[in-house]
Amino acid sequence: MTQAYPNLFEPLDLGFTTLKNRVLMGSMHTGLEEEKQGFDKLAVFYAQRAKGGVGLIVTGGISPNIRGRLSPVGCQLSKPWHVAKHQKITSAVHEAGGKICMQILHAGRYGYHPLNVAPSAIKAPISPFKPSAMSHRQIVKTIKHYARAAKLAKKAGYDGVEIMGSEGYLINQFICSRTNKRTDQWGGSFENRSRFPKEIVKAVREAVGEDFIIIYRLSMLDLVEGGNTQEEVVELGQAVEKCGATIINTGIGWHEARVPTIVTSVPRAAFRWITAELKKSLSVPVVATNRINTPEVAEDILAKQEADMVSMARPLLADPDFVAKAEADKADRINTCIACNQACLDHVFENKRATCLVNPLAAYETELVMNPVVKKKRVGIIGAGPAGLSAACFAAERGHEVHLFDKATEIGGQFNYAKQVPGKEEFYETIRYFKNRLEDAGVILHLGQEQNKESITQFGFDDVVVATGVSPRALEIEGADLPHVYGYLDVLRDHKPVGKRVAVIGAGGIGFDVSEYLTTTVSPTLDAEQWHAIWGIDKSYEHRGALLEQPLAEPNPRQITLMQRKTSKVGGGLGKTSGWVHRNTLRHKGVKMLAGVTYERIVPEGIEISIDGNKQLIEVDNIVVCAGQLPLRELEAPLREAGVSVHRIGGADVAAELDAKRAIRQGAELAAML
Ligand code: NAP
Ligand code: SF4
Repeated sequence: MTQAYPNLFEPLDLGFTTLKNRVLMGSMHTGLEEEKQGFDKLAVFYAQRAKGGVGLIVTGGISPNIRGRLSPVGCQLSKPWHVAKHQKITSAVHEAGGKICMQILHAGRYGYHPLNVAPSAIKAPISPFKPSAMSHRQIVKTIKHYARAAKLAKKAGYDGVEIMGSEGYLINQFICSRTNKRTDQWGGSFENRSRFPKEIVKAVREAVGEDFIIIYRLSMLDLVEGGNTQEEVVELGQAVEKCGATIINTGIGWHEARVPTIVTSVPRAAFRWITAELKKSLSVPVVATNRINTPEVAEDILAKQEADMVSMARPLLADPDFVAKAEADKADRINTCIACNQACLDHVFENKRATCLVNPLAAYETELVMNPVVKKKRVGIIGAGPAGLSAACFAAERGHEVHLFDKATEIGGQFNYAKQVPGKEEFYETIRYFKNRLEDAGVILHLGQEQNKESITQFGFDDVVVATGVSPRALEIEGADLPHVYGYLDVLRDHKPVGKRVAVIGAGGIGFDVSEYLTTTVSPTLDAEQWHAIWGIDKSYEHRGALLEQPLAEPNPRQITLMQRKTSKVGGGLGKTSGWVHRNTLRHKGVKMLAGVTYERIVPEGIEISIDGNKQLIEVDNIVVCAGQLPLRELEAPLREAGVSVHRIGGADVAAELDAKRAIRQGAELAAML
């Protein structure tokens, strides 16, 4: 068989060791690091990815000392007795045929605790804790702590370490004048500011000897004011190479940057150009990263020699067998990461264990287990949206006979509306994935027919799952039945003509989606050049931090007023790590956002509202109602009355705060118990 991705599967010879392919699993904190017995679970988590064929894994960040922790209970490797738990990971990965490096991460001023330190005492905009400025002695000791952590990592059986030098953490804080105001030999000139990482790499190399991988994560684009210039980045890359780095990984943007770097609206591989540019000046292998989520994109980067490896983190959370599937030319079977951040990064920021929206088994490998069934049952699942799809696939894979019903002629439910929203094109992949998975699992599909009690009971199912989803909540005010009042399905599903001036009622996920849909002509996610210009990224790298002074004003064909009754921030309920991108996008396009609105009545000219008792008429051509949903479960009661064993999942269960994350997990949990 010819290999569909020849460059991706070409081994990489590092001199003292060879990586079997060009896939690096990027560092991701799961939260298991800090849980009781978490390392046992982590060992299974990483081993599964190693078994799935990843060339080299990098762990989540581990601090070299107490002050460098991300959180008060953050994981640290500094004592000989810390080694044993790490050995669980390394032996599990090695047994599975993989290689693994431990990331050493000192959070600096991003440390979410009062012991945090930084080159200068300047508070980060994303942490309430002002750091104390490190003394010269502390700096020298911290360098030794990096070396000690690397030595202990080697003892624990790791194949190498990654030194985290980007994303705005401690090393990055030293390198940039934005955060380094020192006047001693650790601050001032670039030579001085870059002394800290150079000394670290040297000390680590000295501590671990020659035959040990050292990856240095180089901040190629800071994307903040007071960031570095391209010349400085090149100089540092060449210097760390000389100091002993084996591989240079790409870092893009500080966490406090106001440019999105990984969310779903970022074009795929949007930052490949900077790795390609830097590669020209470096001699060790270079890794490209950010929003690479398919083998095609990865292969293209490698084939064009823009990088020597590709890093994927979340895509391997979404599918541990990503690499094996690509190798077997079954890329259409990959569960693609949709870059939603909802179950991974958002969880980490909420101090919850990371998992994956499209793969609820991720980081729950030992707890949510799909054992083969002992007694095969006939299971009917009504509704082929996220919840029904998840339940159907898992139940069939466990060995049940599964029938999946939907009145629509295609599977996907609400995903079919989401996929049309500019910046959410990745949902097409989820539907493609489930379509193929249903086929592989042998699920019997019954599409295009509305079901009723009789049509379902005639099958004589052992269990019936009601996954019939939701119906949009209607607006109950005067004039709501006027012809210029639409529901969101009129817009996203039926594509009814919409005028130039629009009022959107409800500012939840769907209100934002509809506003984005109505204000976009060409999705910038599919046009990387436009996307860079809109977000003010200076691809010519003439400015520090690669930030343009003036971002491009995006063309907007409509005037939108987006409203909510709550007095809180409009869009405050959106995802923790993605909500700000949606808010900024709409703000940038001039969408007017109103909070604390009372809807008085709808009239032919528009909608009358009041805010703080002040009445006003918003003159619009159309009003689009995005006021949430109600559960749709009419079938449940008659089926129960007919003596059928009925289960309820997804939006049919709870419509409030309905999202695909809960729906897919609930489907999986039910399937594990059937
Ligand atoms: P939602 O998030 O619950 O928002 C509903 C909006 O309607 C709220 O802004 C609410 O604000 C308003 N509302 C509720 N009852 C109303 C009433 N009787 N009259 C007028 N306004 C009313 O629901 P959604 O936007 O339909 O989204 C559904 C789910 O899909 C969400 O929970 C979300 O998780 C998921 N989703 C997620 C994304 C995403 O980007 N992650 C995108 C789309 C959908 P007030 O009560 O303040 O007026
Ligand atoms: Fe990707 Fe979303 Fe899963 Fe995170 S939760 S790995 S972003 S699909």
